[in-house]
Amino acid sequence: MSAVPLPTLPRLKTIYDVLYLNERIRLGSGPSYADEIVDPDGSYAALVRILDGTRSVSELQGQLTESLDPDEVLDALRQLLAGGFLEDAAEVPPDNLSGSDLKRYAPNLDFFRTVVAPGESCFTPQSKLKDTRVLLLGLGGIGSNVCMALAELGIGHIFAVDFDRVELSNLNRQVLYSTDVIGQRKADAARQRIRSFNPDIEFEVSDRRLTCLEDVREAVDQARPDFVFCLADKPNGLIDFWVNEVCVQSSVPYAAASVSARVGTAYTVVPGKGPCYQCRIDSEIALAPELQEPLDYIRENHINARNAAMGPPCMFLAYFLSYEMLRHRLDFMGEILASHRLLEVDFVTFAQQWHDFERRPDCRVCGAVPAVGMTYPA
Ligand SMILES: [Zn+2]
Repeated sequence: MSAVPLPTLPRLKTIYDVLYLNERIRLGSGPSYADEIVDPDGSYAALVRILDGTRSVSELQGQLTESLDPDEVLDALRQLLAGGFLEDAAEVPPDNLSGSDLKRYAPNLDFFRTVVAPGESCFTPQSKLKDTRVLLLGLGGIGSNVCMALAELGIGHIFAVDFDRVELSNLNRQVLYSTDVIGQRKADAARQRIRSFNPDIEFEVSDRRLTCLEDVREAVDQARPDFVFCLADKPNGLIDFWVNEVCVQSSVPYAAASVSARVGTAYTVVPGKGPCYQCRIDSEIALAPELQEPLDYIRENHINARNAAMGPPCMFLAYFLSYEMLRHRLDFMGEILASHRLLEVDFVTFAQQWHDFERRPDCRVCGAVPAVGMTYPA
Protein backbone atom coordinates (compact mmCIF):
# COMPACT_ATOMS: atom_id res chain seq x y z
CA MET A 1 0.00 0.00 0.00
CA SER A 2 1.20 3.48 -0.77
CA ALA A 3 1.06 6.26 1.82
CA VAL A 4 1.02 8.74 -1.06
CA PRO A 5 -2.43 10.30 -1.52
CA LEU A 6 -4.36 9.23 -4.58
CA PRO A 7 -4.41 11.72 -7.47
CA THR A 8 -7.37 14.09 -7.74
CA LEU A 9 -7.89 12.99 -11.35
CA PRO A 10 -6.07 9.65 -11.67
CA ARG A 11 -4.55 9.02 -15.09
CA LEU A 12 -2.58 6.02 -16.25
CA LYS A 13 0.77 7.40 -17.44
CA THR A 14 0.47 7.48 -21.21
CA ILE A 15 4.05 6.25 -21.64
CA TYR A 16 2.74 2.77 -20.91
CA ASP A 17 1.01 1.05 -23.80
CA VAL A 18 -1.83 -1.10 -22.48
CA LEU A 19 -2.22 -4.59 -23.94
CA TYR A 20 -5.54 -6.28 -23.07
CA LEU A 21 -4.42 -9.92 -23.32
CA ASN A 22 -6.19 -13.17 -22.43
CA GLU A 23 -7.20 -12.91 -18.75
CA ARG A 24 -4.48 -10.32 -18.06
CA ILE A 25 -3.58 -6.71 -18.75
CA ARG A 26 -0.03 -5.87 -19.67
CA LEU A 27 1.31 -2.38 -18.94
CA GLY A 28 4.04 -1.53 -21.39
CA SER A 29 4.88 -3.21 -24.66
CA GLY A 30 8.07 -4.96 -25.67
CA PRO A 31 10.02 -7.66 -23.87
CA SER A 32 10.75 -5.39 -20.90
CA TYR A 33 7.11 -4.50 -20.22
CA ALA A 34 6.47 -2.87 -16.87
CA ASP A 35 3.87 -5.08 -15.19
CA GLU A 36 0.88 -7.36 -15.64
CA ILE A 37 -2.48 -7.37 -13.90
CA VAL A 38 -4.29 -10.70 -13.59
CA ASP A 39 -7.82 -10.07 -14.83
CA PRO A 40 -9.80 -13.27 -15.58
CA ASP A 41 -13.22 -11.61 -15.88
CA GLY A 42 -12.19 -8.26 -17.40
CA SER A 43 -13.31 -6.23 -14.39
CA TYR A 44 -9.94 -4.45 -14.01
CA ALA A 45 -9.82 -3.81 -17.74
CA ALA A 46 -13.00 -1.78 -17.23
CA LEU A 47 -11.10 0.42 -14.76
CA VAL A 48 -7.91 0.74 -16.79
CA ARG A 49 -9.90 1.76 -19.90
CA ILE A 50 -11.32 4.81 -18.15
CA LEU A 51 -8.16 5.92 -16.30
CA ASP A 52 -7.72 8.84 -18.68
CA GLY A 53 -7.63 11.63 -16.10
CA THR A 54 -11.17 12.88 -16.73
CA ARG A 55 -12.76 11.29 -13.63
CA SER A 56 -12.24 11.68 -9.90
CA VAL A 57 -11.85 8.64 -7.64
CA SER A 58 -15.50 8.77 -6.60
CA GLU A 59 -16.61 9.12 -10.23
CA LEU A 60 -14.53 6.06 -11.13
CA GLN A 61 -16.11 4.15 -8.26
CA GLY A 62 -19.59 5.25 -9.36
CA GLN A 63 -19.01 4.21 -12.95
CA LEU A 64 -17.62 0.77 -12.13
CA THR A 65 -20.28 -0.57 -9.73
CA GLU A 66 -21.16 -3.45 -12.06
CA SER A 67 -17.60 -4.80 -12.22
CA LEU A 68 -15.78 -3.65 -9.03
CA ASP A 69 -16.99 -2.54 -5.62
CA PRO A 70 -15.71 0.85 -4.31
CA ASP A 71 -13.04 -0.75 -2.08
CA GLU A 72 -11.73 -2.81 -4.97
CA VAL A 73 -11.43 0.36 -7.07
CA LEU A 74 -9.54 2.08 -4.23
CA ASP A 75 -7.25 -0.89 -3.77
CA ALA A 76 -6.51 -1.13 -7.49
CA LEU A 77 -5.74 2.61 -7.70
CA ARG A 78 -3.41 2.41 -4.71
CA GLN A 79 -1.54 -0.49 -6.25
CA LEU A 80 -1.20 1.30 -9.58
CA LEU A 81 0.02 4.41 -7.74
CA ALA A 82 2.57 2.44 -5.71
CA GLY A 83 3.82 0.86 -8.93
CA GLY A 84 4.46 4.30 -10.42
CA PHE A 85 1.77 3.95 -13.11
CA LEU A 86 -0.53 6.80 -12.08
CA GLU A 87 -0.25 10.56 -12.35
CA ASP A 88 -2.61 13.40 -11.58
CA ALA A 89 -4.26 15.03 -14.60
CA ALA A 90 -5.27 17.92 -12.32
CA GLU A 91 -1.64 18.88 -11.69
CA VAL A 92 -0.62 22.32 -12.90
CA PRO A 93 2.97 22.55 -14.24
CA PRO A 94 5.36 24.87 -12.36
CA ASP A 95 5.39 28.54 -13.39
CA ASN A 96 8.92 28.43 -14.78
CA LEU A 97 7.95 25.95 -17.48
CA SER A 98 6.31 27.66 -20.46
CA GLY A 99 3.93 26.04 -22.92
CA SER A 100 6.83 25.85 -25.35
CA ASP A 101 8.99 24.15 -22.70
CA LEU A 102 6.31 21.54 -22.11
CA LYS A 103 6.31 20.67 -25.81
CA ARG A 104 10.09 20.82 -26.31
CA TYR A 105 10.82 18.75 -23.24
CA ALA A 106 7.88 16.33 -23.60
CA PRO A 107 10.26 13.37 -24.13
CA ASN A 108 12.28 14.48 -21.06
CA LEU A 109 9.04 14.54 -19.08
CA ASP A 110 8.22 11.04 -20.33
CA PHE A 111 11.65 9.89 -19.17
CA PHE A 112 11.05 11.48 -15.75
CA ARG A 113 7.67 9.72 -15.60
CA THR A 114 9.55 6.43 -15.63
CA VAL A 115 12.04 7.30 -12.88
CA VAL A 116 10.37 9.59 -10.34
CA ALA A 117 9.05 8.04 -7.13
CA PRO A 118 5.37 7.01 -7.10
CA GLY A 119 3.20 10.09 -6.71
CA GLU A 120 6.06 12.47 -7.61
CA SER A 121 5.56 14.91 -10.46
CA CYS A 122 7.39 14.54 -13.77
CA PHE A 123 7.48 18.35 -13.96
CA THR A 124 9.60 18.83 -10.83
CA PRO A 125 12.91 17.61 -12.30
CA GLN A 126 12.46 19.59 -15.51
CA SER A 127 11.62 22.68 -13.46
CA LYS A 128 14.76 22.14 -11.41
CA LEU A 129 16.86 21.86 -14.56
CA LYS A 130 15.33 25.11 -15.82
CA ASP A 131 16.47 26.75 -12.57
CA THR A 132 19.96 25.24 -12.79
CA ARG A 133 23.00 27.44 -13.41
CA VAL A 134 25.98 25.84 -15.14
CA LEU A 135 29.41 27.27 -15.91
CA LEU A 136 31.11 25.67 -18.90
CA LEU A 137 34.83 26.38 -19.21
CA GLY A 138 35.91 25.50 -22.73
CA LEU A 139 33.82 25.10 -25.90
CA GLY A 140 36.09 22.70 -27.72
CA GLY A 141 35.61 19.01 -28.47
CA ILE A 142 34.01 17.85 -25.24
CA GLY A 143 32.81 21.32 -24.21
CA SER A 144 30.77 21.94 -27.33
CA ASN A 145 29.12 18.52 -26.98
CA VAL A 146 28.35 19.29 -23.32
CA CYS A 147 26.94 22.65 -24.37
CA MET A 148 24.51 21.03 -26.80
CA ALA A 149 23.57 18.43 -24.18
CA LEU A 150 22.81 21.16 -21.64
CA ALA A 151 20.66 23.02 -24.16
CA GLU A 152 18.82 19.79 -25.00
CA LEU A 153 18.27 18.95 -21.33
CA GLY A 154 16.80 22.40 -20.71
CA ILE A 155 19.40 23.78 -18.32
CA GLY A 156 18.01 27.28 -17.84
CA HIS A 157 21.19 29.27 -17.30
CA ILE A 158 24.40 28.40 -19.14
CA PHE A 159 27.53 30.52 -18.83
CA ALA A 160 30.44 29.60 -21.07
CA VAL A 161 34.01 30.81 -21.53
CA ASP A 162 36.28 30.26 -24.54
CA PHE A 163 38.77 32.59 -26.20
CA ASP A 164 39.58 30.52 -29.31
CA ARG A 165 38.45 31.01 -32.88
CA VAL A 166 36.81 28.31 -35.00
CA GLU A 167 39.18 26.43 -37.32
CA LEU A 168 38.36 23.90 -40.02
CA SER A 169 40.20 21.22 -38.04
CA ASN A 170 37.79 21.75 -35.12
CA LEU A 171 34.86 20.47 -37.15
CA ASN A 172 35.74 16.79 -36.74
CA ARG A 173 34.37 16.98 -33.18
CA GLN A 174 33.15 20.42 -32.13
CA VAL A 175 29.45 20.11 -32.85
CA LEU A 176 28.56 23.71 -32.03
CA TYR A 177 30.24 25.03 -35.16
CA SER A 178 29.88 24.69 -38.90
CA THR A 179 31.93 25.55 -41.95
CA ASP A 180 30.34 28.97 -42.37
CA VAL A 181 31.65 30.23 -39.01
CA ILE A 182 35.33 29.36 -39.53
CA GLY A 183 37.41 32.28 -38.31
CA GLN A 184 34.74 33.55 -35.92
CA ARG A 185 35.28 33.58 -32.20
CA LYS A 186 33.86 30.40 -30.69
CA ALA A 187 32.05 32.57 -28.17
CA ASP A 188 30.15 34.40 -30.94
CA ALA A 189 29.47 31.26 -32.96
CA ALA A 190 28.26 29.38 -29.87
CA ARG A 191 25.94 32.25 -28.89
CA GLN A 192 24.41 32.25 -32.35
CA ARG A 193 24.02 28.46 -32.38
CA ILE A 194 22.47 28.11 -28.94
CA ARG A 195 20.10 31.06 -29.42
CA SER A 196 18.89 29.52 -32.62
CA PHE A 197 18.70 26.00 -31.13
CA ASN A 198 16.93 26.92 -27.91
CA PRO A 199 15.97 30.58 -27.45
CA ASP A 200 14.19 29.84 -24.17
CA ILE A 201 17.34 29.37 -22.11
CA GLU A 202 19.72 32.03 -20.84
CA PHE A 203 23.06 31.59 -22.58
CA GLU A 204 25.91 33.95 -21.79
CA VAL A 205 29.35 33.41 -23.21
CA SER A 206 32.64 35.21 -22.72
CA ASP A 207 35.70 35.17 -24.96
CA ARG A 208 37.97 35.93 -22.03
CA ARG A 209 41.24 34.02 -21.77
CA LEU A 210 41.68 32.46 -18.33
CA THR A 211 45.25 33.29 -17.36
CA CYS A 212 45.32 32.81 -13.61
CA LEU A 213 43.41 31.45 -10.68
CA GLU A 214 41.76 34.82 -10.09
CA ASP A 215 40.30 34.77 -13.63
CA VAL A 216 38.65 31.44 -12.84
CA ARG A 217 37.43 32.79 -9.54
CA GLU A 218 35.84 35.79 -11.27
CA ALA A 219 34.10 33.52 -13.78
CA VAL A 220 32.69 31.40 -10.95
CA ASP A 221 31.69 34.46 -8.90
CA GLN A 222 29.87 35.98 -11.88
CA ALA A 223 28.07 32.81 -12.96
CA ARG A 224 27.16 31.64 -9.43
CA PRO A 225 26.89 28.10 -10.82
CA ASP A 226 25.32 25.03 -9.30
CA PHE A 227 27.76 22.96 -11.33
CA VAL A 228 30.93 23.60 -13.37
CA PHE A 229 32.39 21.74 -16.33
CA CYS A 230 36.16 22.07 -16.63
CA LEU A 231 36.84 21.42 -20.31
CA ALA A 232 39.42 24.08 -21.06
CA ASP A 233 42.88 22.77 -21.83
CA LYS A 234 44.88 25.99 -21.68
CA PRO A 235 47.10 26.78 -19.92
CA ASN A 236 48.01 23.12 -19.91
CA GLY A 237 49.07 21.80 -16.50
CA LEU A 238 47.52 24.77 -14.69
CA ILE A 239 43.88 25.30 -15.60
CA ASP A 240 42.77 22.02 -13.98
CA PHE A 241 44.45 23.04 -10.72
CA TRP A 242 42.91 26.53 -10.78
CA VAL A 243 39.39 25.25 -11.45
CA ASN A 244 39.80 22.64 -8.72
CA GLU A 245 40.97 25.18 -6.16
CA VAL A 246 38.25 27.72 -6.94
CA CYS A 247 35.46 25.14 -7.04
CA VAL A 248 36.56 23.50 -3.78
CA GLN A 249 36.83 26.87 -2.05
CA SER A 250 33.43 27.90 -3.46
CA SER A 251 31.86 24.52 -2.63
CA VAL A 252 30.74 24.05 -6.23
CA PRO A 253 30.91 20.52 -7.68
CA TYR A 254 32.51 20.14 -11.08
CA ALA A 255 33.26 17.51 -13.67
CA ALA A 256 36.19 17.33 -16.04
CA ALA A 257 37.32 15.14 -18.92
CA SER A 258 39.92 14.96 -21.61
CA VAL A 259 40.72 12.77 -24.56
CA SER A 260 44.14 12.02 -25.94
CA ALA A 261 44.19 9.84 -29.04
CA ARG A 262 42.46 6.57 -28.06
CA VAL A 263 42.26 7.18 -24.30
CA GLY A 264 39.73 9.36 -22.51
CA THR A 265 39.48 10.19 -18.83
CA ALA A 266 36.77 11.76 -16.70
CA TYR A 267 36.30 12.63 -13.04
CA THR A 268 34.01 14.62 -10.81
CA VAL A 269 34.87 16.60 -7.69
CA VAL A 270 32.23 17.12 -5.02
CA PRO A 271 33.72 19.49 -2.42
CA GLY A 272 33.38 18.26 1.12
CA LYS A 273 32.38 14.76 0.06
CA GLY A 274 35.21 13.29 -1.97
CA PRO A 275 38.82 13.86 -2.92
CA CYS A 276 39.76 16.79 -5.12
CA TYR A 277 41.97 16.93 -8.20
CA GLN A 278 44.93 18.06 -6.09
CA CYS A 279 44.45 15.00 -3.86
CA ARG A 280 44.71 12.74 -6.89
CA ILE A 281 47.74 14.43 -8.42
CA ASP A 282 49.51 14.54 -5.03
CA SER A 283 48.80 10.83 -4.55
CA GLU A 284 50.05 9.99 -8.05
CA ILE A 285 53.24 12.00 -7.49
CA ALA A 286 53.74 10.43 -4.05
CA LEU A 287 53.67 7.02 -5.73
CA ALA A 288 55.73 8.09 -8.73
CA PRO A 289 57.82 11.19 -7.91
CA GLU A 290 59.18 11.22 -11.45
CA LEU A 291 55.79 12.61 -12.61
CA GLN A 292 56.62 16.01 -11.09
CA GLU A 293 59.36 16.96 -13.54
CA PRO A 294 57.29 16.68 -16.74
CA LEU A 295 54.40 18.52 -15.07
CA ASP A 296 56.74 21.39 -14.19
CA TYR A 297 58.23 21.36 -17.68
CA ILE A 298 54.76 21.53 -19.31
CA ARG A 299 53.83 24.48 -17.12
CA GLU A 300 57.07 26.41 -17.56
CA ASN A 301 57.31 25.88 -21.30
CA HIS A 302 53.59 26.24 -22.11
CA ILE A 303 53.44 22.84 -23.80
CA ASN A 304 50.03 22.16 -25.32
CA ALA A 305 49.20 18.60 -26.17
CA ARG A 306 48.64 18.04 -29.88
CA ASN A 307 45.03 17.26 -30.55
CA ALA A 308 44.33 13.71 -31.66
CA ALA A 309 40.69 13.66 -30.61
CA MET A 310 37.98 12.27 -32.83
CA GLY A 311 34.31 13.16 -32.53
CA PRO A 312 32.72 10.07 -30.94
CA PRO A 313 35.01 9.99 -27.86
CA CYS A 314 34.18 13.66 -27.24
CA MET A 315 30.48 12.84 -27.50
CA PHE A 316 30.81 9.89 -25.15
CA LEU A 317 32.68 11.87 -22.50
CA ALA A 318 30.23 14.77 -22.83
CA TYR A 319 27.36 12.34 -22.28
CA PHE A 320 29.08 10.89 -19.22
CA LEU A 321 29.75 14.31 -17.70
CA SER A 322 26.23 15.59 -18.43
CA TYR A 323 24.85 12.64 -16.48
CA GLU A 324 27.21 13.40 -13.60
CA MET A 325 25.58 16.85 -13.45
CA LEU A 326 22.11 15.26 -13.62
CA ARG A 327 23.03 12.87 -10.79
CA HIS A 328 24.08 15.84 -8.71
CA ARG A 329 20.94 17.87 -9.42
CA LEU A 330 18.31 15.10 -9.39
CA ASP A 331 18.33 12.76 -6.40
CA PHE A 332 16.56 9.91 -8.14
CA MET A 333 19.36 9.63 -10.73
CA GLY A 334 21.56 7.92 -8.15
CA GLU A 335 25.06 8.59 -6.86
CA ILE A 336 27.67 10.51 -8.81
CA LEU A 337 29.92 7.85 -10.36
CA ALA A 338 33.33 9.50 -10.60
CA SER A 339 33.62 11.55 -7.40
CA HIS A 340 36.22 9.23 -5.87
CA ARG A 341 37.70 7.58 -8.92
CA LEU A 342 38.92 8.37 -12.38
CA LEU A 343 37.18 6.81 -15.35
CA GLU A 344 39.56 5.75 -18.11
CA VAL A 345 38.21 4.53 -21.43
CA ASP A 346 40.13 3.05 -24.32
CA PHE A 347 37.94 4.12 -27.22
CA VAL A 348 39.37 1.53 -29.62
CA THR A 349 38.65 -1.54 -27.49
CA PHE A 350 36.07 0.22 -25.30
CA ALA A 351 37.80 -1.25 -22.24
CA GLN A 352 36.96 0.82 -19.16
CA GLN A 353 38.92 1.11 -15.95
CA TRP A 354 38.12 2.90 -12.73
CA HIS A 355 41.09 4.21 -10.75
CA ASP A 356 40.14 4.83 -7.13
CA PHE A 357 41.68 7.71 -5.27
CA GLU A 358 41.15 9.06 -1.79
CA ARG A 359 40.97 12.38 -0.05
CA ARG A 360 44.31 13.40 1.45
CA PRO A 361 44.14 14.95 4.92
CA ASP A 362 47.23 16.97 4.01
CA CYS A 363 45.76 18.27 0.72
CA ARG A 364 46.53 21.97 0.51
CA VAL A 365 43.23 22.60 -1.35
CA CYS A 366 40.62 20.46 0.39
CA GLY A 367 42.51 19.46 3.57
CA ALA A 368 41.55 20.75 6.98
CA VAL A 369 44.00 23.66 6.78
CA PRO A 370 44.09 25.03 3.25
CA ALA A 371 47.29 26.86 2.39
CA VAL A 372 47.02 30.48 1.40
CA GLY A 373 49.00 32.35 -1.20
CA MET A 374 50.07 29.40 -3.33
CA THR A 375 51.81 30.73 -6.41
CA TYR A 376 52.09 29.11 -9.81
CA PRO A 377 54.80 29.35 -12.42
CA ALA A 378 54.03 32.03 -15.00
ZN1 LIG B 1 42.19 17.66 -2.06
